[in-house]
Amino acid sequence: MSVQANLNEVNARINEACENANRSSEEITIIGVTKYVSVERAREAVTAGIRELGENRMKGLLEKQESLSSEEITWHFIGSLQTKKVKHIIDQVDYIHSLDRMSLAKEINKRASQPIHCFIQVNVAEEDSKHGLALSEVIDFVKNLENYPNIRIVGLMTMAPFTQDETILRQTFRQLRQLRDQIQALTLSYAPCTELSMGMSNDYVIAIEEGATYIRLGSKLVGESI
Ligand SMILES: *Cc1c(COP(=O)(O)O)cnc(C)c1O
Repeated sequence: MSVQANLNEVNARINEACENANRSSEEITIIGVTKYVSVERAREAVTAGIRELGENRMKGLLEKQESLSSEEITWHFIGSLQTKKVKHIIDQVDYIHSLDRMSLAKEINKRASQPIHCFIQVNVAEEDSKHGLALSEVIDFVKNLENYPNIRIVGLMTMAPFTQDETILRQTFRQLRQLRDQIQALTLSYAPCTELSMGMSNDYVIAIEEGATYIRLGSKLVGESI
């Protein structure tokens, strides 16, 4: 399938989910996750109109950026980020989705030459296999970021459990949204926290119904190993 054909299908499902939830589809930004695919396939996504791309590793990010350097693309770093790698990617990315510890915040703050848009990664279901703060840790974490002028908390990010169980997925996304609302209500200047990065190929429809503003799509949009 071409990326365009996949995108048409995704857009139809986004529209449907938005209708169900009484939302405007303009509230949803698709991040094309190109980590499994070639530079050529990433370019095809850009040609199809995807303007936000996500990578989870430094090498993939730099590779794709080099070959797409003539395009105007917003770059998202969505993978777990080792502290020592921060200096290599910090000036290359527009958003980091995986802020999950103070030592990382400190390093981003130190290396960035301007405020970086960060999502706090939350491990809502507290799965051992996943990174992220527990729900109960996030508010204190946000409050402790006050003296990091180069960190701007734009929202929260989660990866839901890998399941088809709609109840679990909905509950996961809903808990993240409620936490987002709580942080927003703190009205911290450095943490507007308006966004929710949630929903992948397997669960983006439910994520949108529960309030996602950024969905991260790999396999259903660009495919795997193309
Ligand atoms: C790989 C990845 C995605 C995309 O996964 P698909 O299920 O292929 O859509 C989204 N978010 C993160 C953090 C990822 O690592």
